[in-house]
Amino acid sequence: MTSPTIRELFAARRQPTLSLEFYPPKDARGFDLLGQSIERMRPVHPDFVTCTYGAGGSNREFSFAAWELLIRLGLTPVVAHLTCVGASRADLESQIHRIYDAGIRNIMALRGDPPRGETAFTPAPDGLAHASDLVALIKSLHPDICCGVAGYPETHPEAVSPADDLRHLKEKIDAGADFVNTQLFFHNDVYFQFMDAARAIGITAPILPGLMPVASPGQLDRAIGFSRATAPAALRDALQVPDPEAARTAGIQWMVNQINGLIAGGAPGIHLYILNQAHTVLDPRLTACLAHWRSPSTRHADL
Ligand SMILES: Cc1cc2nc3c(=O)[nH]c(=O)nc-3n(C[C@H](O)[C@H](O)[C@H](O)COP(=O)(O)OP(=O)(O)OC[C@H]3O[C@@H](n4cnc5c(N)ncnc54)[C@H](O)[C@@H]3O)c2cc1C
Repeated sequence: MTSPTIRELFAARRQPTLSLEFYPPKDARGFDLLGQSIERMRPVHPDFVTCTYGAGGSNREFSFAAWELLIRLGLTPVVAHLTCVGASRADLESQIHRIYDAGIRNIMALRGDPPRGETAFTPAPDGLAHASDLVALIKSLHPDICCGVAGYPETHPEAVSPADDLRHLKEKIDAGADFVNTQLFFHNDVYFQFMDAARAIGITAPILPGLMPVASPGQLDRAIGFSRATAPAALRDALQVPDPEAARTAGIQWMVNQINGLIAGGAPGIHLYILNQAHTVLDPRLTACLAHWRSPSTRHADL
């Protein structure tokens, strides 16, 4: 039996959704640890989970194994990420069929990053150049697959301009994408401005904000390094304390404040980049915040 699509979940939701992102481990011990993390975070009851696709597509078997583990442990629906990196159209077709045959009906359709040290993305021979091409391919093979796509509140690093980037996001929606999952950000203003700009050019799909907890200045720098998100000085100051536990608490509190602001402002849900770490989602400040917003007795202006 297949689980619902994210499109169906959004249509039926009465509360904001909660989704968690995992990445595939690279060895048996990593899979054991992931299994233990999943068991520990079971009480959090995410509405859906996502799992990334190895950079360069090189680790695709680990991605498949991780999707299967999530399904086996009942953490569904699963959104399988897929990128165009290093894959011909025929390769991608066979990956899409394989995902479908595994019972997965949700794919995050991504172009992927250029290899390390390169600034431009070069499609594989007979491959696809843009995520919008991948959305179109998925929908042509299996129209019942629900497609998510990436959105960049602070603009994709390769984009010519914010407006151009947004136009390309609209192309992904026009190709059939059902929802947008954003790159992480630390200022809520950038999400709301992005929402307004997206709505202004006719993007009506749900735009799910992605947040990542950071527990030290080093983690903040790493998050900024790959996402190009801007770091608020107040967050950096709060993390710059000698006690690691105090820094972790400050990072969680920043995220809780972001969640409160995002949901109060009408975000359809919250997507957490948790890096396979159960302790983040089990933090009492975070669980209390999520329990409040996900309680049937909490009234939401937009629902
Ligand atoms: C939520 C999320 C999940 C992710 N998961 C993964 C993952 O699992 N594995 C992984 O390797 N990476 C992942 N990434 C990173 C992603 O692969 C990179 O950000 C990548 O550089 C762009 O992918 P995209 O799908 O946004 O590409 P696209 O939408 O194709 O956009 C890439 C760039 O090309 C431009 N562009 C788009 N269409 C056109 C066009 N027709 N003509 C000219 N320019 C165009 C865009 O403006 C943008 O600058 C994820 C990112 C996010 C936000």
